[in-house]
Amino acid sequence: MVKQKILIADPDEQLLHLLKTYSQASDYAIETATNGHECFSKIDSFQPDLLLTEMLLPHIHGMKILRDIKDNPATKHIGVIITTAQLMIQNYQAAINLGCSFFLEKPFEIATVFSLFKRFFEGNLSPDPFSGMQSTMEGAHCYLPKAHPSDSYIKFWGTRGSNPVSGSDYVRFGGNTCCLEIRDGSDLIIVDAGTGIRPLGQAMSAFNPKKINLLISHTHWDHVAGFPFFGPLYDPECEITIWTPIGFEKTTKELFTDMLAYAYFPVRLDDIKATLVFKDIEEGIPFQIGNIVVDTHYAYHPGATVCFKFKVGKTLFGYATDNEFLMGHHGNPNLIHKTSPLLAPYQSMIKFFTGCDFLIHEAQYTSEEYQKKVGWGHSSITNASVLILQSEMREWIITHHDPKHTDQDMLKKTQMQYDIFDDIKYTCRPRMAFDGMTIPL
Ligand SMILES: [Zn+2]
Ligand SMILES: [Zn+2]
Repeated sequence: MVKQKILIADPDEQLLHLLKTYSQASDYAIETATNGHECFSKIDSFQPDLLLTEMLLPHIHGMKILRDIKDNPATKHIGVIITTAQLMIQNYQAAINLGCSFFLEKPFEIATVFSLFKRFFEGNLSPDPFSGMQSTMEGAHCYLPKAHPSDSYIKFWGTRGSNPVSGSDYVRFGGNTCCLEIRDGSDLIIVDAGTGIRPLGQAMSAFNPKKINLLISHTHWDHVAGFPFFGPLYDPECEITIWTPIGFEKTTKELFTDMLAYAYFPVRLDDIKATLVFKDIEEGIPFQIGNIVVDTHYAYHPGATVCFKFKVGKTLFGYATDNEFLMGHHGNPNLIHKTSPLLAPYQSMIKFFTGCDFLIHEAQYTSEEYQKKVGWGHSSITNASVLILQSEMREWIITHHDPKHTDQDMLKKTQMQYDIFDDIKYTCRPRMAFDGMTIPL
């Protein structure tokens, strides 16, 4: 008796083996193919009565094979069963319209396939109605990634240096001057009181904290200009501790008293309703605010300026908004090595940041601009990159953007940073901070 002929096309050789060696396989003459070209050539040479083909057959799509078979009067009679692991209504309907005998979802039992063969040759195989994708979930519940605690984060409220800016050229990165919020549960630290502290104060009215710690890196305008507009200053129940490095000329209280003189602002320091506590930062001596550990290192910047290092939970990160690294250097960063004399004055800072999970550090000037800005207290993008490399930092967030740099300039600067890292063969893709940028910790 002549056996009915079945061609099975599938790239999965293990599946082909299981089908060919199944107990009922000997009832049929079976040939196999593992790709579209082989499938077509076997249709010609073997002339099957039935084709079982994977829809995503390598080289030639199963639907194209189905169409060609049904369009050709010589092969039109061949039954076609399409198998797929991606049961989608569009594919199902297209296959049925093209004359497919059955649409079989993977994975399947081998016995099911042979029962379909039997039904086909008995003349009673027709497609089942579309049943929708079978769930492939293992286990009872849908996997959802663990939600990160939403009360531990840093948020940039001001990322501009020197002077606030506004207008259509600055919508992407923002225009408020330096202000960073660090939150860890009920612990709250604010770093710098640039103009960004005003919207932060507004946002804080929602949870109304009564104890606030404000760290000031130094008292240049761009780091204190928002102070008088910080809402919680006018809450009599609020206690605000202001931490500053010990200055050269005046105490912090004297500086703030001067700043809030009637000549500059209608409210004097004595009129502030909140309780203000002034504390000195002793450089290099770590201290703790709630559960957050704060450490400091002098920055290379005019006056007494510090950069910070924070330990929040398991995360350690640095924050340096005003820091002229490799002052006066304009040369090729590839020529600087770990033991270069040029790095000697900066080794303690490199050590300070090494080990951080990420560093927030300025890169205010392009290398071209820096030629005219030596001694202004800010780094070129090239020299800042050397600090990143030397402290083995893989994640760098750039802040304290130059007020002259528009959104377009900032995108160009980002590309320049990538080019510098490509040139010095170091893997780091820095991000430009923007007003509102939030990073969960
Ligand atoms: Zn600054
Ligand atoms: Zn400054």
